[in-house]
Amino acid sequence: MPEAAATLRTQLIAAARRMTAAGLNKGTAGNLSVRCVDRGEAGYLITPTGMAYDTLTPEDVVFMRLDGTYAGLHGNRRKPSSEWRFHRDLYAARPEAGAVLHAHSPFAVSLACLRRDIPPFHYMIARFGGDTLRCSAYATFGSQELSDAALAALEGRTACLLANHGMLVYGRDLDQALDFGVELECLCEQYWRACQLGAPVLLDATEMATVLEKFAGYGQQS
Ligand code: 13P
Ligand code: ZN
Repeated sequence: MPEAAATLRTQLIAAARRMTAAGLNKGTAGNLSVRCVDRGEAGYLITPTGMAYDTLTPEDVVFMRLDGTYAGLHGNRRKPSSEWRFHRDLYAARPEAGAVLHAHSPFAVSLACLRRDIPPFHYMIARFGGDTLRCSAYATFGSQELSDAALAALEGRTACLLANHGMLVYGRDLDQALDFGVELECLCEQYWRACQLGAPVLLDATEMATVLEKFAGYGQQS
C-alpha cells in the first residue's frame, strides 16, 4: 500500500473514532470519507458498512473510484458504507471537498424529523454558506434518490439536514469536516433549546449578508 494512502487510512479511522467521542454517532450509524489519490487513481477512502469504528484496522477502509467501483481494487476486503453514493456525488460536484461526514447526531436528527430548514436564529448559520440550513427531501438510506435530494439541499452550502435521518457536511480535510460536524450539531441543539422558550427572533437578510461577507475573510487565511 503506498505510504500516502496508508497514512490516510489511519487518519480516517482516527477521525471516525473522534466522531463517536464527540457524541455525533453511536454504534454503526454515520460514515466518513476522505478524498484520495491511490496508485494514480482518483477516488476516496470510506468507512466500511456496518462496522463499529473501534474495531477498524486500515485494511477495513474501502477505496472507491469516482465511478462507484471498488470490488477487487487496492486490496479492498470490505463493502463500503451504504451511503457511498452521496460521498461520491459530493466529491464529483465540489472540487473543494476533501472530506465528507454523515452523522445521526441527536439534535440534528430531532430537527430533521420536523423536515424544516433551520432559519437564521444565530449568525453562525452563515458558517455553512447561506442564511438557512436546509433539510433535504426524504429518501431511503443508501439510495441514489437520497444522494440527489442531499445535493439539492446542499446547493450553495457545505452542510444540510437529511429528512428523518441526520446531517451531512463536508470540509477541506478530515479535521475541518469534523469541526463543522460538531459546530452543526451545536447549532441544532441551540436552536432546539431556543424553541423550547418561544419563537426565536431571526436575523434579517441584510445582517446575514454582512455576516456571510465577514466569514469569507474569517479565521487564519493562508
Ligand atoms: P453504513 O454503516 O452503511 O455507513 O450506514 C450507516 C448510515 O448512517 C446509513 O445512513
Ligand atoms: Zn445515516
